[in-house]
Amino acid sequence: MMKKEVFLISWTDKPLMTMMWAFSNMHNSVPDTLEEFESDNTTKFGSDLGRIKFSFIKMLATNPHSSVLEFVNTNWMIRGGSRAFQQQLTRTRLAAYSIQSMRIVDVGRFFEEEMFHVPERFSSDEKSAVKSEYLQAMKSAQESYCKLISLGAKVEDARGVLPLNICSPITMSINLRALSHMLETRLCNLAQDEHRLFAEKMVKEISTKLGAEFGQLFRKPCEKAGHCTMPINCGKTQFELDGAYKNTDLDLWLKG
Ligand SMILES: Cc1cc2nc3c(=O)[nH]c(=O)nc-3n(C[C@H](O)[C@H](O)[C@H](O)COP(=O)(O)OP(=O)(O)OC[C@H]3O[C@@H](n4cnc5c(N)ncnc54)[C@H](O)[C@@H]3O)c2cc1C
Repeated sequence: MMKKEVFLISWTDKPLMTMMWAFSNMHNSVPDTLEEFESDNTTKFGSDLGRIKFSFIKMLATNPHSSVLEFVNTNWMIRGGSRAFQQQLTRTRLAAYSIQSMRIVDVGRFFEEEMFHVPERFSSDEKSAVKSEYLQAMKSAQESYCKLISLGAKVEDARGVLPLNICSPITMSINLRALSHMLETRLCNLAQDEHRLFAEKMVKEISTKLGAEFGQLFRKPCEKAGHCTMPINCGKTQFELDGAYKNTDLDLWLKG
């Protein structure tokens, strides 16, 4: 199976200072350069600056100050994600994307190159009948795709027979507030495993490149709210279902 990789390729320079500067402007006068602002804060807080960074980010994770998170933009390269994952990802409207075009790129060797997602539940059992049927379906989709092209079909028309779990790279540009909203829902145990895996990788990438204090922004919705925010409880945490769902006929609404 194709390796799933996430790279935070660029972000707003001096992300923490940019947000502190924007926040400070609400109640104080601030200098015209970030360098001056940083130097003032280093003098003011000294060795306490590390602790201040953590508590500042923690505060931003709560309202009404989350708007300051919009001052920091992040740009991502995501490889090895299926088109199904991309459909879910791009439901987040407060972001920009570029997706490889399957109208143009010929993916006639996607099976040999293992350019498709295998659900975790299948891949754990190498000899299962489910996995073998799944791989056979992938192979046969590739054969039909190549045959259509050899018979004169255009790549953009032949792509109609490609599976939803075929992988292609996607780039995304998103600010920290929108990212926090997106990752929160996808870190939930009820999110699809592929998306959750990417969400976890993104949190790790942010913590490594922007600083450990930024990791606090991204928590499962139940950890943030103190109760389960989904209509069905995953049963894997100590959090109870939101009271609002207790009097709702979930069978009527969720099972069609
Ligand atoms: C576990 C899970 C299961 C899901 N299942 C399904 C499913 O079965 N079918 C399905 O269709 N979707 C499904 N979704 C997608 C979901 O419904 C949302 O579309 C997706 O999570 C994006 O959320 P959002 O609209 O809050 O985010 P964004 O589009 O990034 O918007 C962020 C916020 O901005 C505001 N906003 C954005 N645009 C507008 C607007 N036009 N008007 C008013 N406010 C706006 C809202 O406050 C919104 O929360 C699922 C998502 C999850 C996490």
